[in-house]
Amino acid sequence: MLPMIRAYESCGTTRKLSLSFDDGPANETSMLLDELKTNNMLATFFLSPAAWRSDSLKQCALVKRMIDEGHEIGLHSWTHPDLLNVPKSQFTEEVRLVSDFVSKCSGRGDGFRPNQFRPPFGSLSLEQAKLLTSYGFIVSLWNIDSKDTADGANLTSIEDFISQRLRVVADGKVGGNVLLAHDRRIGGFSGDFVRYVKSEFVELQGYEMVSGTDCYEQCDSRSRDSGICIDPRAEFRTVQIRDWINHVEQSKGRTSP
Ligand SMILES: [Zn+2]
Repeated sequence: MLPMIRAYESCGTTRKLSLSFDDGPANETSMLLDELKTNNMLATFFLSPAAWRSDSLKQCALVKRMIDEGHEIGLHSWTHPDLLNVPKSQFTEEVRLVSDFVSKCSGRGDGFRPNQFRPPFGSLSLEQAKLLTSYGFIVSLWNIDSKDTADGANLTSIEDFISQRLRVVADGKVGGNVLLAHDRRIGGFSGDFVRYVKSEFVELQGYEMVSGTDCYEQCDSRSRDSGICIDPRAEFRTVQIRDWINHVEQSKGRTSP
């Protein structure tokens, strides 16, 4: 039986890195895919196709390219709303439309359905998290935001922010991390960004690159028991993940003899 909620914000206790890009496919995505290929790196893309004005045929081709080149696809809503502000009917439409789009573009028939969902802004209610889990999704969060969407962000500011965040998150302890960036924002310096991630994490620190799904599987057994893989090293919470855990624990308490 599925746990009440399946969610993660880190990759357990060993040195793993899940590199993730949100909000695509965008015009800049093809450059990013080129750089990932050149550097032999794989990422997980969380898609929100109708969020920005884009050519949907080009987007569709990019989805297929992501899959063909071995990247993982997750869903990130259709129009990128703050899901805390939408009624249930719109919530399910946001999930259905992006899932249908990806399935159609994959060229692999209706059997291709991503099993991860990342809520825009990390905004998700307990009820929505439970609903997504019942649909078979893992809720995908992150513990290191590259802050590439900040005004004036550039490679230097992003590197500084990630190093700072790594020190705070890790506090000297090894563990798996989920790094968040955005196709559109990394855009023109995607080559520098991908080389930085490879050099800093893989070559210098010995991280193993993993997909979002593998990241979730790396959770320690205690986290897996609750269905929620938190980062025990950090007090970072974009969503009310502590509340979710409390809810799961209370429910267990109620059903225990
Ligand atoms: Zn987003």
